[in-house]
Amino acid sequence: MSFSSYSVSSHPLAVYGWDEGWEAEFAPYAAQGLLPGRVARVDRGLCDVITPVGTVRADTEFVVPRDPMKVVCTGDWVAVDPEDSDPLYVRTLLPRRTAFVRSTSSKRSEGQVLATNIDHVVICVSLAVELDLGRIERFLALAMSSSGGEAPLHTSALSWESGAQPVVVLTKADLVPDAVTLSHLVQDVETTAPGVPVLTVSATMRDGLDVLTAVVGGGTSVLLGQSGAGKSTLANALLGEDVMEVQAARDVDGKGRHTTTTRNLLALPSGGVLIDTPGLRGVGLWDAEAGVGQVFSEIEELAGRCRFQDCAHESEPGCAVLAAVDDGELPVRRLESYRKLMRENQWIVAKTDARLRAEIKRDWKRKGAEGRAAMEAKRGRTR
Ligand code: GDP
Ligand code: ZN
Repeated sequence: MSFSSYSVSSHPLAVYGWDEGWEAEFAPYAAQGLLPGRVARVDRGLCDVITPVGTVRADTEFVVPRDPMKVVCTGDWVAVDPEDSDPLYVRTLLPRRTAFVRSTSSKRSEGQVLATNIDHVVICVSLAVELDLGRIERFLALAMSSSGGEAPLHTSALSWESGAQPVVVLTKADLVPDAVTLSHLVQDVETTAPGVPVLTVSATMRDGLDVLTAVVGGGTSVLLGQSGAGKSTLANALLGEDVMEVQAARDVDGKGRHTTTTRNLLALPSGGVLIDTPGLRGVGLWDAEAGVGQVFSEIEELAGRCRFQDCAHESEPGCAVLAAVDDGELPVRRLESYRKLMRENQWIVAKTDARLRAEIKRDWKRKGAEGRAAMEAKRGRTR
């Protein structure tokens, strides 16, 4: 079956984010008779891929990488075997535009990719409880650490434009009945997040949903935020109940090959795609390294004027950061959040390095053993 007669916008995958860029990346695989698809879910080496002919279950055996950061993930665009092949394999992973990485878990210190090809990171913050600006900063740093393209995920420098765009959504606005108070809260968050759009919504009153709908309408979004922040309610409001039923019905298929729906990757009725995975929901400590500098750009700028290049901004003479605190130009709370985030990142880097060190040691041990074996073999021959 050929899909070359579709224009990009009428392509069956357009609602899942297919565009000219993906079309161009996919062209060589189309020539091989493969199907394009977007990964909705990965589960022990098998994944659900949304293709122009429906959702198929495909094996990822051919694209198992040495680099754990390149494991097929929700949000990836792939080339899969045509639907009548059995078994059905994912053949290629198309280069990612962005990737969301969690960098630590109890067992492994390498990164774990949670979602890919994200355009908007919607940070949900409940107005039902007191605003925690430090936590918003952390979520922003994490949003900024989503990496672009195929560059090494931990080092690629991003601008607000090149990576996923963060948006802060203050939820449950109906619980702040006073408009003046509400606008002060918005201002506080705007000060914390320079250049980041800050919206207020009430899912129950259906206030502010139109603006959010417009924001997420252009691309793929993830909802982040603490448990209870109102993410599920917001996702349902964006999706509309009837649409969820429609999607569930569309994927029900007794043939076995087509799988039942997963709520992990969903096309929104007014455009845009929402990714909502258990992994994203349980976000703990994130690799915010790449994002710290952008969230705390004013501190980084001040740091450039410190007398010493490796100034820790603790008590060093000629420290421009401490001078700004003294002048009241920089709130001391900002500096404390910055320090906290930097400390956490150093801990993550140290963990990663420890793993690297162990790897290098293993390598030398192996080489040593090979060397000894080679020497022994030589001796054996000459004996
Ligand atoms: P999640 O854990 O982030 O997915 O949060 P939920 O969507 O489950 O919402 C947590 C609680 O907040 C639920 O009891 C919701 O009914 C409530 N909630 C969500 N949105 C709103 C809102 O706009 N206004 C009010 N008053 N409550 C809301
Ligand atoms: Zn300094």
